[in-house]
Amino acid sequence: MVATLALTVPGERETVWRMNCPACASALVALTVEGLVVDVCRQGCGGIWFDLFELNKVDQAHEKFGEALVALEFDPRAAIVPDKRFCPKCLGITMLQHKFSPDKPVMVDECPNCGGVWLDGGELAEIRRRSPTTDDRKKAAQRFFDRLFIEDLAQLKARRARP
Ligand SMILES: [Zn+2]
Ligand SMILES: [Zn+2]
Repeated sequence: MVATLALTVPGERETVWRMNCPACASALVALTVEGLVVDVCRQGCGGIWFDLFELNKVDQAHEKFGEALVALEFDPRAAIVPDKRFCPKCLGITMLQHKFSPDKPVMVDECPNCGGVWLDGGELAEIRRRSPTTDDRKKAAQRFFDRLFIEDLAQLKARRARP
């Protein structure tokens, strides 16, 4: 029988969980918002544990649940282990670090056994910030045309420079 302490705060339900933070070893707190449960290091470094397939529900900037997670407070002075982190669920399994995706170079830790993903404090915000928006696509197009224009100018100048 595992002793759990239930806390209730408006809009969310929390239960102190047995899992420990892979980065700073504080106890993780299970947080339920809109039916999704994630384990958060609230007393420590602010990292978040996502079970397999949970992360893709919050990684886009328009997804509301992610907003609540990004806004969570944490202790910025928490001492964290930079690498060789163990999965908080699978005993003795070391997580592997890799980029979130080719266009989002945020390093995340993934458990090769259960497929869960660990994000350090602030990493979810970073991933969500990198969601491409219409604005980003417009800017990319603008940069492309600017470059063409600069190349045209350079060619014109080169032609004029000739005797
Ligand atoms: Zn932590
Ligand atoms: Zn695992």
